[in-house]
This record gives sequence, structure tokens and C-alpha cells, in this order.
Amino acid sequence: MNLRTGQGIDFHRLERGLNLWLGGILIPSDKGCKAHSDGDVLLHAICDAMLGAAGLGDIGQHFPDTRQEFKGIDSKILLKKTYELIKGKGFLIVNIDSTVCLEKPKIAGFIPEMRSVISDILETTPENISVKATTTEKLGFTGREEGIVAMAVVLLKQ
Ligand SMILES: [Zn+2]
Repeated sequence: MNLRTGQGIDFHRLERGLNLWLGGILIPSDKGCKAHSDGDVLLHAICDAMLGAAGLGDIGQHFPDTRQEFKGIDSKILLKKTYELIKGKGFLIVNIDSTVCLEKPKIAGFIPEMRSVISDILETTPENISVKATTTEKLGFTGREEGIVAMAVVLLKQ
């Protein structure tokens, strides 16, 4: 069995009055991510990790933010398209580990639903999809609530 690992990282600016989509879920928040798509920083990091593991480039190559068809797009569609790309190369998900870094709101209560949504798209079980949350202890741009960071590591089998 061919095992391949990949990592992904994504950043988005937070702005008042936008929706906060994280892990495919709409989170109640007074700020949301500014982006060409729905700005789901966690799903973007996971897509990049999957593409990296399969040696298929990055999310910007496959879904450029200059293309009208991706404007405001639900990132669950991007995750599904990414999964189809890696499946086309004969890859399946072994597991994903990820971390979202933001000051607020607290997202711990939404993590089970995120794991369920992501695992459904990736044809695996929630046990194989880990989502963690942390803050930067009020330091830096995440601490000032100016932005969000997400990181993901994926293991694929071929
Ligand atoms: Zn992004």
C-alpha cells in the first residue's frame, strides 16, 4: 500500500457583518472571513493538504479566485471536487488532523458536526477526521480578531 502525507495551511481576514463558515458549518459570529469563496479556512487547509499528499498542486491552481464560477462558492463543493481529484488518482483518506486558530467565538461545541460533515464528503468516518481549536492567547493578528488560521495534515492511501 502506498501511503502519502500532505499538509495545508490557510489564512483569512475577519470582517464584521460576514458569515463565518468553518468546517462546512455556519457558526454564529459577528465577524466572518473575507474571501472569494465562502471563506471556509478549515476546508481550504484540508483541500490543500489532500492535494499536497497526492502531488496535485494547490487549491489556488484548481479553483482560482479570479474565476467567476468560484465567487461565493460553498467550500464543501471545493472539498468534494478535491476529493474527486485525489480519488481519480486512486487515493483514499486514512485520516486528517487539523487545527483552527482563532480568538473567538468558541467553536468546540460545533466540532462534532464539522467532523460529521467533512467525513460524509470524504467517504470516511468522523473518527478519521480530527478538528481541534486553539487561540494565540490574544497575541498577533488572530489574537486581535483580525484573522483566522487553519492547519491540516492528511494521510492518504493508494
Ligand atoms: Zn482560503
